[in-house]
Amino acid sequence: MTWKDGKRWVYSITYDEGCQALLEHALPVHRRYGVPGHVALVASQIGAPRNVPGSSYDGMMILSKEEIHALVAEGWGVSCHSMTHAGVTPANAEYEVVQARKTLEEALAMPVTIFCVPGNNDGYPPAYAVAARAGYRAILTIYDDINTAETDLLRLARVPLHTEYPPPFYSAYDPYKRLHQAIDRGGWVIDYCHCPMPGKPIHPWKDCTLEQLEERFATVRRVGGDDVWVAEPNEVVAYLLAHR
Ligand SMILES: [Zn+2]
Repeated sequence: MTWKDGKRWVYSITYDEGCQALLEHALPVHRRYGVPGHVALVASQIGAPRNVPGSSYDGMMILSKEEIHALVAEGWGVSCHSMTHAGVTPANAEYEVVQARKTLEEALAMPVTIFCVPGNNDGYPPAYAVAARAGYRAILTIYDDINTAETDLLRLARVPLHTEYPPPFYSAYDPYKRLHQAIDRGGWVIDYCHCPMPGKPIHPWKDCTLEQLEERFATVRRVGGDDVWVAEPNEVVAYLLAHR
C-alpha cells in the first residue's frame, strides 16, 4: 500500500503533556520544516501549571484552550493523555481513560479520538480494555518501533526522540533513528518527546534538545525527499480507517 498522495512512508511527532514552552521553542522549528505537531494532554490540566508531583515537568505551564486551537488551526492535533497522569489500572480506567475523553472534549470543545498512555506501557492493557468503548480510534504507546499500514491502531508504537537512552547502554542521540526501517518497510514513524529546550534537555531520557529536534526534522526532509508524508497522527489514523 502507498500512503496519501502516493507517499512511501510517514513521519509524525508527538509531545506528551503539551507544555506552553513549545510555542516559544519547538513551534518555530515546526514552521521552518513544514511539520505539524501533536500534543497529548492531561484532561484535567488544560491552561494550568502541570500538577504531577515527581514529574520532571511538574509546575510547567500547560497550553490553554485558545493556544491549542491556534495550533490546531495550523495543522497540529491532540490526544488525551488521561485525566490526571496516574498510571492506568483496571480500577481507575473508567476515570482516567473513559471519563477523561469527555472531560478533554468539553475543555477544548473539539473531538478527541486518540488516547496516549501516560507513564509506561504497564498502563496499556487496562487502557486498551476500555478504549474502543470510550470512543477512541487509536492508542499511542511507548513501545519503541515503527508502525505499518497493518498495525493495530489501538497499539501504535512511538519512537523516543531523546538525548540519551537509559542504562545500561546510554545510547547516544541518533537523528536517523528508525527512518531507514520505515523507508524500507513503507512504515510510519511517530516520534515522541516532551518539550525540547535550547542547549540542554529537561531530562536526557525524556527529551531531546531544540537543536536535536531541528536535526531530526532536517534528516527526515533530507532522507525522505518527496517520498515522505509528514502528518500528525489523527490525520494518518483517519486515512488508514478510510483505506483499509
Ligand atoms: Zn506523560
